[in-house]
Amino acid sequence: MTTTAMVEIKGIHKSFGPVDVLRGVDLRVRAGEVVVILGPSGSGKSTLLRSINHLERLNRGYVRIDGELIGYRRSGGRLRELKEREVLRQRTHIGFVFQNFNLFPHLTALENVVEAPVAAQRKPRREATEKALLLLERVGLSDKANAYPRRLSGGQQQRVAIARALALEPKVVLFDEPTSALDPELVGEVLDVMRDLALRGTTMIVVTHEIGFAREVADTVVFVDDGLIVEQGPPAQVLDHPRHERTKAFLAKVL
Ligand code: ADP
Ligand code: MG
Repeated sequence: MTTTAMVEIKGIHKSFGPVDVLRGVDLRVRAGEVVVILGPSGSGKSTLLRSINHLERLNRGYVRIDGELIGYRRSGGRLRELKEREVLRQRTHIGFVFQNFNLFPHLTALENVVEAPVAAQRKPRREATEKALLLLERVGLSDKANAYPRRLSGGQQQRVAIARALALEPKVVLFDEPTSALDPELVGEVLDVMRDLALRGTTMIVVTHEIGFAREVADTVVFVDDGLIVEQGPPAQVLDHPRHERTKAFLAKVL
């Protein structure tokens, strides 16, 4: 086992005004590991994910991805914030899948997937298009390449969003409740795509309430409450033998 983490989160604190939302979070994620984050609404899960790709500025602590400090550089023992251009470059290594898909409405499914490699990585359009077609095939949407988002179901839109997140060959993909906005009958097709990514060795951090997915796919389940990691471990341990009352109480509600 390697000792270097693909994602290293160390002592992060984040407050909004007087409200301490993250109160000292440490987490290490190995290459190829799937981490599922569970926790009540308002516990800081989205803020934690957003902190990983520097959509939030931290009050304390740091995040490294594949050894690289995100959003900051060290200078004379202090952390200084990087320029926006640098942060954008770093974000190209971090896929992000949102609850509400966030596709560009004026672009087709294919164009949505092609956009980032061409715009952010200056890949030739032709090469990006070939790759995008493969990714759409992988998420089962070859026949929808030329469809605009409004013509796609929520499940299809989310699968396009996943293909788009993969187009930059990210080092880690973050999912923030990727199935919460979907009609129940569409949840399975998105979870199937995520399970396939996991099997292919994608490093993933997934915030979800889908306990079945956590049990089956996660290597590690992390329970967050009130801005802290309360416990973490293999699914069988955290889901079936939680050690903390708060975890038990949460699971009793969602299971
Ligand atoms: P979760 O994703 O677990 O539901 P969030 O990370 O979205 O939780 O939010 C945690 C807490 O931080 C909530 O109380 C929320 O209201 C607060 N919060 C999140 N973002 C902001 C913000 N930009 N400004 C002020 N408060 C925020
Ligand atoms: Mg959230």
